[in-house]
Amino acid sequence: MNVTTVRLTRMQMLQYPFSAETRAVTQNMAKDLGSLIGLLDTDQYEPVVDEAERRIIAAIDQSEIQLVNSNDDRDFLISPTSRLVVEKIGDPRLREYQAEAESKTVNKHLDAEKDEVVMHLCQSSFGWQIESTGKPVDRARLPVWLRSFDFRMRFENFLEVAPGFHQPPWKLVNRFLDAGWIPVQSLELKRLMSGKYKQLILNSTLKVPTLPARLTEAVQRVETEFRRKARVTEPVKITETVVSAFPPCIAQMHDDSIQGKNLPHEARFTLAAFLLKIGMSQDEVLGVFRSSPDFVTDLARYQIRHISSKSGGQGYTPPGCKKIQGNGLCPVYLGVTFDPLCEYIIHPLAFYKTRAWEMLKGIENRSWYATKKRKKQSLS
Ligand code: SF4
Repeated sequence: MNVTTVRLTRMQMLQYPFSAETRAVTQNMAKDLGSLIGLLDTDQYEPVVDEAERRIIAAIDQSEIQLVNSNDDRDFLISPTSRLVVEKIGDPRLREYQAEAESKTVNKHLDAEKDEVVMHLCQSSFGWQIESTGKPVDRARLPVWLRSFDFRMRFENFLEVAPGFHQPPWKLVNRFLDAGWIPVQSLELKRLMSGKYKQLILNSTLKVPTLPARLTEAVQRVETEFRRKARVTEPVKITETVVSAFPPCIAQMHDDSIQGKNLPHEARFTLAAFLLKIGMSQDEVLGVFRSSPDFVTDLARYQIRHISSKSGGQGYTPPGCKKIQGNGLCPVYLGVTFDPLCEYIIHPLAFYKTRAWEMLKGIENRSWYATKKRKKQSLS
């Protein structure tokens, strides 16, 4: 299938704000954040700000985002403007609402797309390596259980998103893997794409400067509406983003393991004991270690079972910070990274509980550590 011949329609470009084509159009209109803010401060762009506000309010209400297609290129600036407003407010809960609503809307549009468009978007927007498995008739030669897969994708692309989904089919341990390729069904691939878009929004590092009056008013209106509705709206449940509550030491071990690096014994034990303690199943933990170069399923399963069954089924408790630091596995102690919470806890599980609670409550200002708790360790 020749994906280079795919040309997105105007409507498709509006449906997929992450696409290379849409980004090219928006960059042509506003080459950077400063140019976008300059345009939005003019009368001609007032409808863009209004529509961006409506888009965010729909996300807060957890309803479907309605696209505006008025045959005017200003329509392409509605999505980046809504992102700009949310980033200016800087509330992680609001960002969660936006990421959830935007990715659900993308998923709905992808549902109706042809395979060549899906492949084109994967390749040109995310740089993923995807191959078609051919028409159903061509797949008749494959073993029966492989025939339902429409595509295959590189396992490293799969792992960019799938570890955030907790159902068993997303675990690498439950997938067929052949020379680095994983067969995926069309619906699964679309779920991974919308998940990737959600990730891009959640991990945004957009730094929004001081805004002119017109935009500041829009930000204030959205913020007021959000605070009013947030009191009566269910918080977005922490599910896929739970990994972002990991302390730096565990995050490092987890990333290394998923990427197939060989972890030293102490790191494997710490990571496995930690993941089991926060409620991951033995199979899920096994999946985290599956990419290790020396992975042997039976042995790894045995070790994980052993760690989880210790102390009458309570399982081993992972080592505390002091031990992790002594083993050279604490990136904060080594000066590679920094997190202020690490100064106030002495155990990675305490970090995780506190950070997950902060995420649920939407707390970004961490000055409360210093006021509510005594500093427990010095990492300098
Ligand atoms: S201080 Fe403790 S929780 Fe923080 S990274 Fe180091 S070992 Fe992990």
